[in-house]
Amino acid sequence: MTEVEIEKENAAIAKAYKELLKVSYQTLTTEDKKLIRHAFDVAVEAHNGQRRKSGEAYIFHPIAVAKIVAQEIGLDATSIAAALLHDVVEDNENYTKEDIERMFGDTVARIVDGLTKISSLSKETDVSTQAENFRKMLLTLNDDVRVIIIKIADRLHNMQTMDSMRTDKQEKIASETLYIYAPLAHRIGLYNIKTELEDLGLKYTEPEVYHDILHKIKESKEEQDAYIKAFSKVVVDALDNEGLNYEIKGRPKSIFSIRRKMIKQGVSFEEVYDKFAVRIIYKSDLANEKFLAWKIYSIVTDHFTPNPTRLRDWISSPKSTGYEALHITVMGPKGRWVEVQIRSERMNEIAEKGYAAHYKYKHGNAEDALDTWIDKLQEALESNETNAVDFVEQFKLNLYSKEIYVFSPKGDLKSLPKGASPLDFAFSIHTEVGMKTRGAKVNGKLVPLSQELKSGDQVEILTSENAKPNANWLDYATTARARSKIKSSLREEKKRIGEDGKEILRRKLKQLKIHLDEKTINDMVVYFKLKTSLDLFYRVGVGTIDNTMLKEFAASRSNALMSFIKNKITRRQNISKEELDREEVTSKYDMLVFGKEEEKLDYKLASCCNPIPGDPVFGFLTINEGIKVHKKNCPNALSLQSNYAYRIMLAKWIDSSQQEFSAIITLSGIDNIGLVNDITRIISSNMHVNMKSLSFDSDDGIFSGKINVIVKNNSMLKKLIDNLKKINGIDKVSRV
Ligand code: MN
Repeated sequence: MTEVEIEKENAAIAKAYKELLKVSYQTLTTEDKKLIRHAFDVAVEAHNGQRRKSGEAYIFHPIAVAKIVAQEIGLDATSIAAALLHDVVEDNENYTKEDIERMFGDTVARIVDGLTKISSLSKETDVSTQAENFRKMLLTLNDDVRVIIIKIADRLHNMQTMDSMRTDKQEKIASETLYIYAPLAHRIGLYNIKTELEDLGLKYTEPEVYHDILHKIKESKEEQDAYIKAFSKVVVDALDNEGLNYEIKGRPKSIFSIRRKMIKQGVSFEEVYDKFAVRIIYKSDLANEKFLAWKIYSIVTDHFTPNPTRLRDWISSPKSTGYEALHITVMGPKGRWVEVQIRSERMNEIAEKGYAAHYKYKHGNAEDALDTWIDKLQEALESNETNAVDFVEQFKLNLYSKEIYVFSPKGDLKSLPKGASPLDFAFSIHTEVGMKTRGAKVNGKLVPLSQELKSGDQVEILTSENAKPNANWLDYATTARARSKIKSSLREEKKRIGEDGKEILRRKLKQLKIHLDEKTINDMVVYFKLKTSLDLFYRVGVGTIDNTMLKEFAASRSNALMSFIKNKITRRQNISKEELDREEVTSKYDMLVFGKEEEKLDYKLASCCNPIPGDPVFGFLTINEGIKVHKKNCPNALSLQSNYAYRIMLAKWIDSSQQEFSAIITLSGIDNIGLVNDITRIISSNMHVNMKSLSFDSDDGIFSGKINVIVKNNSMLKKLIDNLKKINGIDKVSRV
């Protein structure tokens, strides 16, 4: 840089600094100005020689942040000084927290330290890390809420000056802004800043969408102005007659909120009808402002019909953020609904600056007022942490990401991917909890484990020692963690059953005079069309290969010709020893079922993608050809699913030998103590039976019961019935 350039830059810095003092919302005392000057000098020194990506001197950034803090948010001198110093410790190793404390005292040092800590939070972009950062940031509120407010100002300025950054970095920062900073700004009542953060967030995450809407807003500006004129014309005389001093403005909705409406209502830009609100801002003294608000309400609704369900009175009971206004939606000119916001000048200032303005009006002393505001905010955030559901509701986190937030019974916050079920929640608490899940309550009500959780749900997992994962769980669990735990448990279970099954097989074959050796195992695997020895042992273990089938196998072996052929096949396939001991779960997909009830229906495989057994698929109900089955990643899938969602059927391949069915058993007998206990013990100790429901009745010493069980096959059911018959006092057991 030439000397002239340096001089020019220094002049620009001095100018920016003067501007900062000039725009401060709060009146600055001589002491305040001294503090700010000192902070400015230290910041200039510390950032000397540093430049931003854009090439401009770094010091412009802290000045700009301080300006947002002073002007737009309206904070005090302490905050302005801290904003000037916010990157000093982070960016210059010659300055420590202690140095700041020595020069500026406790409060400034504490705020700067909080800001430095936030900056050092993990820069990872995955949602769970972001959520963790979010939580940590909220914790700093316990130190000083100004930390977060200055951080929001810092983020706003970074978003405003991101153009010279790499695209991937822009996207990363923008998505974090939408995820964390915009909701925070909203909660703190900084509506203007929140809106700007959202619009900038959209600009960098979906640039095309952003520019498209921006362009259309500019194009429709004239029409909008004309509309507001038409609206004003109707009420202006009446308002003037009442001697009111007011201003009517049209406020366009933000790009981000128009975008949200387009998505939510599935409409185009042109079809979003409330793209702006009409705002009436009136002058009033404190004593009359409520009365005047309702007077204006009365005048507006004399001319336009109000929608009674859309009346919001935030004057009588202001929002927790301090927002005050009267909102109505009326049927405006051209038969269009239009929102009318009625605010006094004071209310308008509060809406723009939050409590800083609120307390300016209430008390004379700004410093006191600010402390009260901070206390109040902290209180709100803390109490929100105890009332967990409101907390999420207010932060509206689910609006900003594909993540949902749910709560444990104690109110601990857990973030899960959208679509997660109670099972995912259970496994996210602890593997042991997941493994022992018996059922779940959501917001106090029992729900199926397959239920999709929503943000704000409070989830309680019911566990039982006897509960264990079953194959269906893989249909409900969406998180990688839960799925891998369930799979490994199923694998263990299969192995265990397989070990038992091997012994059972050895015994049964002995009765058939067949010795269980490698060759026999190979023969059987081929005969039963299985893949591994474990498949064979497992099926014997659970009983899907029963005595009759084993006898058939034995008979086939004694047939010489058959034996010859089998041997040939066996030799060709020659299953190695290693393969026999393989533990892997191999699934044999041989049946396609539809819907939640897993019905067997007629179907055809689509020729566009030719699904094969095991592929993830869905059914599509055609008009002439019944159900057509497509792969989930079929090129036609997306258009079918978006255009004909109602004709899509869930479909999946299953292993028919693993299919379960439910059966109802009735029993009767003489009622005695412990009978019910005996029954439930037998059912729950039988490892292949799941009890769905049971009911017992007792009448004059005669007992009757009904049990709904889920079993894999008939032989298991028979075994269960036999065992139940053995119970002392039981007289009759039968299947309905
Ligand atoms: Mn910064």
